[in-house]
Amino acid sequence: MFFVGAGPGAPDLLTLRGAALLRDADVVVHDGLVPSALLDAVGCHAERIPVPRTPEAGGDPGEETGLLLAGLAADGRMVVRLKGGDPSVFGRLSEEVRPLREAGCPFEIVPGVTAAVAAAAAAGMPLTSRSAASSLTIVTGHEADEKAESLDFSSLAGIPGTLAIYMGVEQAEKWSQALIQAGKPASTPVTVVSRCSLADQTVAQTTLGECAAAFDRCRWPAPAVVIVGTVAEAREIGTALTGRRVLITRPEGQGGELASMIVSRGGTCLHLPLIAIGPPASWEPLDRAILEADRFDWIVFASINGVRSFAERMRLARRDGRHLGSVRLAAIGPATKRALEAAGYACDCMPSRFQSEGLLEALVGDRGGGLPRGSRLMLLRADRGRDLLRRELEAKGHEVAEIQAYASRSLETIDPALLAALDRDGLDWITITSSAIAEAAVGLFGERLGSWKIASISPVTSATLRATGHVPAVEAREPTAAALVEAMADHEANARESAGRACGAG
Ligand code: SAH
Repeated sequence: MFFVGAGPGAPDLLTLRGAALLRDADVVVHDGLVPSALLDAVGCHAERIPVPRTPEAGGDPGEETGLLLAGLAADGRMVVRLKGGDPSVFGRLSEEVRPLREAGCPFEIVPGVTAAVAAAAAAGMPLTSRSAASSLTIVTGHEADEKAESLDFSSLAGIPGTLAIYMGVEQAEKWSQALIQAGKPASTPVTVVSRCSLADQTVAQTTLGECAAAFDRCRWPAPAVVIVGTVAEAREIGTALTGRRVLITRPEGQGGELASMIVSRGGTCLHLPLIAIGPPASWEPLDRAILEADRFDWIVFASINGVRSFAERMRLARRDGRHLGSVRLAAIGPATKRALEAAGYACDCMPSRFQSEGLLEALVGDRGGGLPRGSRLMLLRADRGRDLLRRELEAKGHEVAEIQAYASRSLETIDPALLAALDRDGLDWITITSSAIAEAAVGLFGERLGSWKIASISPVTSATLRATGHVPAVEAREPTAAALVEAMADHEANARESAGRACGAG
């Protein structure tokens, strides 16, 4: 039987060993912090048992889970006990292990990325630093009052270093006051990471004196971890977006790169996916195209979603690169190329301009080997969007099979509480990373869009925005996350410079 740390939630933050064990498991006993999407993503087909179940009167939930595990293992089943973060950090590991030891049931512990460590990574800051923090203390902020060894926050205040507080939001008033009374300056920086690594991750910056009020006001969704200490100041980050709140609207699981770039420039990120990526109406066209893949000269990927569907359907059809023979693969841009390579396929062609026009140029130009007339191309795309590539390729006498490899659905309504929170706390930027997202944003936010600065990923997206009367404040130089963040940072730097000049003149 295996205790496996699931990490903070994103499937790709699980260890390779953890993923392999989950694939082999007969039964997985998991707690609420582990999203079921993680089990699906690693291809876990085991029976799933959520815990803790309501313990018998007076019973201990950890102990009861341990008994359950011992029972399952005694039946000869391959059991994985999957715990959020790392199993040994606030995970009732000692209680769960006791019945196993008593039953003589052997077990192994596979570590996971614990919340504090994942949160520091998300915020782009260190947890220790030679100049500012030579220790890291992990504590729970939710100490049951009756507990004998109740935490003494006044002695914690005396430890020079970083404090990572788990389960700390509800009792924030208590521990922050205790730390301040014991001499920790109210101005000590506090970083809050809510739902770390999940689609709606939020990273925010406050101070020890203000954090309790900020929790009350902002109601960051659980779970959240709090990092107290001067490391937040010491982090080597840019300041271009300091104090700016930026909304990321990309689909779930696809906002991470953008978020870390924004946070590393001092900004605060909120993630609200405005479109969701799902399976196409039918897998049949893609499955058929895959079976006949060697009939094609090129397979063209217009997004990472296309790569994901393709790789998964290939896997299910028990096919790999050998099946593709001499078929060549093209990707629209660097992220799609990376996804292709991560799935084990080489990319034969990527344009220097990352959009349909660029891809067309690259394919028909030298890089595509000239594309002899009558070439056969498979185009993997969403169920909506531009069909420029197909039209132009057909016009040049090529044979194009356009396959819907995934569907993109727009969010239809926004939780009014979330809108109220945006109104109350304000928002400086909204990032719009596709035309579909632009349309969804216009429908969902309406007039509000006018009061935020819009950062658009490409000329096509900007045109969609302009058609609805919304002019982007900036447009990325090329359609990548890095260029989008660069454009926002430049805009803020220019605004500061002109404000400075205005002050000087006055
Ligand atoms: N074993 C877990 C901790 C379980 S205690 C670990 O190693 O991370 C539960 C607490 O962990 C939460 O209250 C929160 O403080 C923290 N936590 C767990 N997952 C988190 C996440 N994705 N984002 C932020 N905090 C998280």
